[in-house]
Amino acid sequence: MVNCSHSKCGESAVINVTKPYCKSHFISYFESKVAATVKKYKLISKKDRVIVACSGGKDSTTVLYLLNKWFGNVTALAIDEGIPGYRNVTLEDLSSFCSRNNIPLKTLSYKETFGFSLHDALKKVDVLPCNICGTLRRYLLNTGAKGFTRIATGHNLDDEAQSIVMNFMKGNLELAARLGPLTGVVESRKFVQRVKPLYFCHEKEVAAYAFLQNFGIRFNECPHARISFRAAIRDFINGLEQQHPGAKQNIVSNFIKVLPKLKEKYAASSSISYCRGCGEPSSNELCKACIYVNSLKSPAVAAVQHPQKLQSFIY
Ligand code: SF4
Ligand code: ZN
Repeated sequence: MVNCSHSKCGESAVINVTKPYCKSHFISYFESKVAATVKKYKLISKKDRVIVACSGGKDSTTVLYLLNKWFGNVTALAIDEGIPGYRNVTLEDLSSFCSRNNIPLKTLSYKETFGFSLHDALKKVDVLPCNICGTLRRYLLNTGAKGFTRIATGHNLDDEAQSIVMNFMKGNLELAARLGPLTGVVESRKFVQRVKPLYFCHEKEVAAYAFLQNFGIRFNECPHARISFRAAIRDFINGLEQQHPGAKQNIVSNFIKVLPKLKEKYAASSSISYCRGCGEPSSNELCKACIYVNSLKSPAVAAVQHPQKLQSFIY
């Protein structure tokens, strides 16, 4: 049996990701790590109005819990894509969590905004679910975050390592430049700054924290996740990690050293233009969300027809 690695503790360890810890020392280790990230990268200040992008899963519920505990007055923002048997379950968990913790919950749905659910859309278009879902989800998060100064997400170290490798594999350094604990390369008051408090936390650590804190959530995965490019990269990196422990941490730690230079390079060449369909910032005449929505020929695209309503944007 392994003991907790805290110098003043002789208890049995309950988790061993980077070091063995008993329950209470793991919780304080984890919370200190998140607090240090928030402080070092100036992710959130007391003046901020914070909205947390929530899925009802372990990562975003952890962020919601901690930011509410430290800063108070946070709002949860959920997107209902319409994924039967999955999203309805996670949204139920999220709604109960928010009620128990007195956190306001705002939910936006594909069906109400675009006139179709993800389930409907996938019957009509032949694309990978995550491609259309990721685009429309980001669009609704931008819309829902209007009026807030920070949108916090549950991205953890594993997610970031995957995003770095995905962008390198696609040869897209400009997209890689938007990563980091504070995303984006160009500052504008029209953009709601996106922040990632769990940036340096391993996925296993977040899972352990959510489990030990008994958040009352079910640890289920979207049925579409396993056929995405991200899933292939996740399996590849997990395989590497098994053979070369520390690989994930090294991908992120080394990337973050070159990130300021990357952001500098692309900030100089980035100019903000706007989609003629919805008014969102976009590098093309029509943004990807409008292209998807138009291609689905939905008559109920109220949001897209009122560009003045859509001011915020995140990467
Ligand atoms: Fe959407 Fe893909 Fe995430 Fe499922 S895994 S919620 S389809 S982006
Ligand atoms: Zn658009």
